[in-house]
Amino acid sequence: MPQVLRRSLFTAATGVLATGALTCGLITGPAQATQTSGTTPKASATATATAAKAYTFTGLNPDGSPIRWDPCSAIHYRINRNGIVKTGELKHVKAAVAKLSRATKITFVYDGKTSVVPDSGDIPKRAKTDLVFAFAKRGKGAKKSSMLTAASIGVGGSQSVAGGNLDVYRNVEGAVVIKATGFSRLSRRERTSLYLHELAHAVGLGHSGKRTQVMYPMLYANAPAIYRKYDKIGLKKLGRTAGCVRPPGKPATPTLSVSGTQLTISTNAVKSYGKKLTYVLTSYAGNNTKKTWTSTEPTFAIPAPDGWRTFSIRAKDSIGHRDSEFVDFAPAPAG
Ligand SMILES: [Zn+2]
Repeated sequence: MPQVLRRSLFTAATGVLATGALTCGLITGPAQATQTSGTTPKASATATATAAKAYTFTGLNPDGSPIRWDPCSAIHYRINRNGIVKTGELKHVKAAVAKLSRATKITFVYDGKTSVVPDSGDIPKRAKTDLVFAFAKRGKGAKKSSMLTAASIGVGGSQSVAGGNLDVYRNVEGAVVIKATGFSRLSRRERTSLYLHELAHAVGLGHSGKRTQVMYPMLYANAPAIYRKYDKIGLKKLGRTAGCVRPPGKPATPTLSVSGTQLTISTNAVKSYGKKLTYVLTSYAGNNTKKTWTSTEPTFAIPAPDGWRTFSIRAKDSIGHRDSEFVDFAPAPAG
């Protein structure tokens, strides 16, 4: 099956996606400013709609589960100072990543610096890493990012794919861009809160309607410099304790045994990272007739066919599916 690319990070700003705006700009301003003021970036419309929610996710799968990275694989990242901040700022970015790692139990690996500024897709290809954290001016062209909006001081998000053996979306690249303009006026606390906010977007956490949370869509002087209660609840649901985002194990080639008029077809039980693991037996006859049976166990007992068949067993759960190899069945000669 072809890979379906979900260009969430870079198309959300233009409103292409209906499910969850992934490009979320954090804006500066007085805490009492309303979300609906004229200067509020479009991305904050999500926050307005979900103002009562303590935490949200930037994207949901059709089954309602949040779109995640595979938390059982390390996320590699690079930082681009872009001539805007001093080398000393690196340790503060890394400290924010470490806080995200603790909240998600996802391992992050620093791959070093990069000159890539996220402004379009293909970050893994361009920067040879999974996630780029960059400082940049707003705009088009080298060293600038068109992802930054006029009112936002930062942006964070991810792109996900489905297809192949995956039946849900999985994040495969991420980006954080911190706007250069106005950055020098931010306090250390505000910078930390900003980093935590955009990094959380990059792993799939959306805005919070609660002002006490890092994911509140507005930065204010006493903004939290650590993830707070609801931030942590949301991050946990995106992280390792929520399970791997991997398809189930591949069932072994089925074995066949005939007893009287019954054919038993078995494979091994496979490991599942999702919910609702089932096995689906598929049979094809020579004339391409297809039949299927579903079971919660990896064993099927069916009436022995009177002609040639080939069988395969699929393991399927809420995350994905894997198919066994085919095994052929030919009835014994009568007599
Ligand atoms: Zn945001």
